[in-house]
Parts: sequence; structure tokens; C-alpha cells
Amino acid sequence: MTQAPDWFSSGLPHIWSPYAQMKRATPPLPVVRTEGTRIFLADGRVLIDGIASWWTACHGYNHPHIRQAVERQLAQMPHVMFGGLAHEPALTLAKRLADLLPGDLTRVFFSESGSVAVEVALKMAAQVWLNRGESGRTKLVAFKGAYHGDTTGAMAVCDPDDGMHARFAGLLPPHLILDLPRDENSLAAFEQALAAHDSEIAGIILEPLVQGAGGMLFHDTAVLRRLRAAADRYRLPLIFDEIFTGFGRTGTLFACEQAGIVPDILCLSKALTGGTLPLAATVATRQIFDGFWSDDPSHALMHGPTFMANPLACAAANASLDLFASEPRLAQAARIAGRLAAELAPARGLEGVRDVRVRGAIGVVELDAIADLDALRRRFVARGTWIRPFGRIIYLAPALTISDEDLATLTSAIVAELESGV
Ligand code: PLP
Repeated sequence: MTQAPDWFSSGLPHIWSPYAQMKRATPPLPVVRTEGTRIFLADGRVLIDGIASWWTACHGYNHPHIRQAVERQLAQMPHVMFGGLAHEPALTLAKRLADLLPGDLTRVFFSESGSVAVEVALKMAAQVWLNRGESGRTKLVAFKGAYHGDTTGAMAVCDPDDGMHARFAGLLPPHLILDLPRDENSLAAFEQALAAHDSEIAGIILEPLVQGAGGMLFHDTAVLRRLRAAADRYRLPLIFDEIFTGFGRTGTLFACEQAGIVPDILCLSKALTGGTLPLAATVATRQIFDGFWSDDPSHALMHGPTFMANPLACAAANASLDLFASEPRLAQAARIAGRLAAELAPARGLEGVRDVRVRGAIGVVELDAIADLDALRRRFVARGTWIRPFGRIIYLAPALTISDEDLATLTSAIVAELESGV
């Protein structure tokens, strides 16, 4: 192994890494290049990426169509503020998203990260009531197992006990965090909570079909239909956080399509730009938007991130949508689903394996426990793979373009690690 480059040794002491106990964590790996499903390290090693950079790089890294679109945009206008000004990449993207999304999800508010998209969604849900003259609706209904981001508003609708923000309980506004209405008992408890807190609730928020960072937990489409029915009965805005599930990850372009229902507000980010640049969108239905349409300035949505609708990011997102239209991403997701199911099946029944599950291009092995996460992550790197287990979960969510060979390398690395005892 060669020595770390100078930029790495001199810069690292000034970096505070994400989700890392800095005293003990293995230092990050210096990366010099990415291409397709490959991450090239400074020391010459090459890793096959099993998680597409936190589920963003759905077409693989450095896709030429996206790169060229960003380069063209860079030459013309890297950025301009979106307050009082508009530009072609953002307006084209908004129209395309409105056309692609189901129902009348037709108003797009851009921001630059998933957490902020969630903040905006929560604000829309709360303010639509205020604009109607109804105050006191300060609580969201959210669910155990949820993860919606790391900003404080989003933290407050994450799982308060098992989630990564559990220690901040006193700092966060209290919401109603319920069990998902999966069966008779949880449905009864859910209905009871809605009835008991009716006048305090501003809306309902859920990651549809897959709760990601909360543990890669799956639920079925009946849950989504139950939430839609309850939201209708209580006139509550239903927010779907499709920041992970959007853009083919669960097998359809958007997860909500599988239930045949339309939320009132939908959040997108991650794969929106094909993983090239930061961008997020909070998309509202006509009805939500109309709740802000008024001669009263105080009824306006008071939000405006400095870099919202960044032209480079919007150009990348438009190019990414081109690829969804011209290349068979959903068929690729289906192929990945089949291969993940077959190739992870040998993990079932191995010691310490609690569950093996697949939905779309997401493969999950849930263990009783992972004794040393850092050590396991290092062993995956030693096998030439980039797989980042968390909690008691080992999972894959690769680029939808991954080859069968690369996918087989990833799944066999997981099975081999399990066979040697995690
Ligand atoms: N919502 C979901 C479902 C996510 O998976 C994430 C990130 O993992 C977020 C929100 C937060 O997005 P960001 O990290 O871009 O703020």
C-alpha cells in the first residue's frame, strides 16, 4: 500500500466526519476518482460500490450524459439566486417532475438537501392550517423506525427511541410517534391516537414502503392505503418522504405508485440528480398550494434556501430524468431484485441471521447484532467492496446500472463474511 497523499494527511486533522466517533473510528479512505460502480482509492485499490454513495448514484458515477449537461450549464450559469429570478433548468425540471409524479402533485419547492425538503414539507403541513385560521395543530404523526433527516425539525419526526437522535429528546418538539398500522392492533391504536389528538395534528409523515436509515424496515401497500384513508377522514396533509424510495429504488419510479395513492406532499432528493450534485424538492398538490394562495402576505411560504434550485444541480436532475426515460432503469431494478433474492438466500439460516429481505433494488440481511461495525466495514473493504453496515443491518442499494458480475461480488462478500461469523 502506498503512502496517503499530502492533501489527506494535512487536511484530515481538520475534518469532522459524519456519524463517526472521531476518537475511535477508522479514518476515511482517500478517493481520487469514481466511475460506474467503481470507487478508486489513492493507493490504487478499487472498490465496487454496494450503496451508490448513500443511495444517490442510481446511474452509476460519472455518467457521461449527466456530466455533459452539468458542463454545459457550468459554462453558462453555475448559480443565480431563485428569489425574484427564474431559470430554464429549474422550470423545466419542475414541469417534468409534475408530469412524472402521480395525481396533482404539481408545485415544486426546491432546496438543497433531503433534511431541508422534509423541513419544508412539515412547514407546509403546519402552515396550511394556520392560513385557514386554525392554530394549535403543532403535532405530526410519524412512525417508529422512521428516519427523516438530521436537522432539528426532521429529527423530531424520527424514531425517538431507537433512532440515532434519541439523545436529543428534550430539545425536540414532541410529536405523535406511533407504530405503523400494519395489523388490527396497531391500526386500532393509530385510529385511537388520531381521534384523541384530532385538533392538535398538522399532518402525517412516512417513508413509503421502506423505512431506510431506521433499519431498512419494509411494510406493504395496505399501510399506505390506510394512512391515505385516515388522512382523508381527518383532512390531514399526508407527507411521503421518498428521498430514499424515489427514482426506481423500490421497483417503481415512486413507491407511492405501488399503493395507487397520492400523498399531499412528497419529498425527493438523493437520486434526483443521479447523485451528481445536491438538490431536493418538496412537491405539493394543487390543494396544498391553494392553501397559501391569498392576498395576505403572511400566508406566503416563508422559506428560501440560498442555493435552492441551483442551475447546475437542476441541469444534472434533468439529465438524470432523460436517462430514466431512455434507459431501462425499472427493468434493471427488477433484475437486481431477483438476483439479490437468489444471491442473499444462502445467508438465511446462517448463525446470527435474523432476516433476509429484498424490495426492489434493496437487499437486506438483518442480524441479531453486529459486534464490531468498524471491523466489519474494514473487512468489506479488504474484499474490494464498499458496503457500510449500520446498527444490526448489512444492506445493498447499488446503482441500478450495476452489472451482474459486480452485484455477485457484493452479495458473495456478504455471504462469505456471514459464513466466517460477524
Ligand atoms: N429522508 C430520508 C428517507 C433519508 O433517507 C434521508 C437521508 O438518508 C433524509 C431524509 C435526509 O437527507 P439528507 O441527508 O440529504 O439531509
